[in-house]
Amino acid sequence: MDCLFCKIIAGEIPSKKVYENEYVYAFHDINPQAPTHILVIPKKHLASTDEVSGENSIYVAKVFEAIPQIAAEAGLTGGYRVITNCGADACQSVGHLHFHVLGGKQLPENMG
Ligand code: AMP
Ligand code: ZN
Repeated sequence: MDCLFCKIIAGEIPSKKVYENEYVYAFHDINPQAPTHILVIPKKHLASTDEVSGENSIYVAKVFEAIPQIAAEAGLTGGYRVITNCGADACQSVGHLHFHVLGGKQLPENMG
């Protein structure tokens, strides 16, 4: 499958990995929008939140179980924001479900 993030998980495209387990892979965003900007992704290809179901939601649960550890290791003691973009109106640009973890500064209140 021609998916950028599947290739990153497979090691075919390099990434700055910060965390990995059986279900989850996390790495630094190539174009950070905050001092810390990490992408946390399921190792199963799901195009977006639109493809989350009872059959695969363990991958989403595992993402959220990993996020506190990822945030702590990144030093985000002041807090952080988790965002996922789904579809054109949200400007999703990579068609593999991913969660942005942003922090390291006071983030703007406005989210859209
Ligand atoms: P979205 O716009 O929500 O689909 O987010 C896609 C994110 O992937 C953007 O923040 C990009 O900067 C990031 N991105 C694209 N290519 C790479 C890459 N090769 N390595 C790391 N992050 C990437
Ligand atoms: Zn994929």
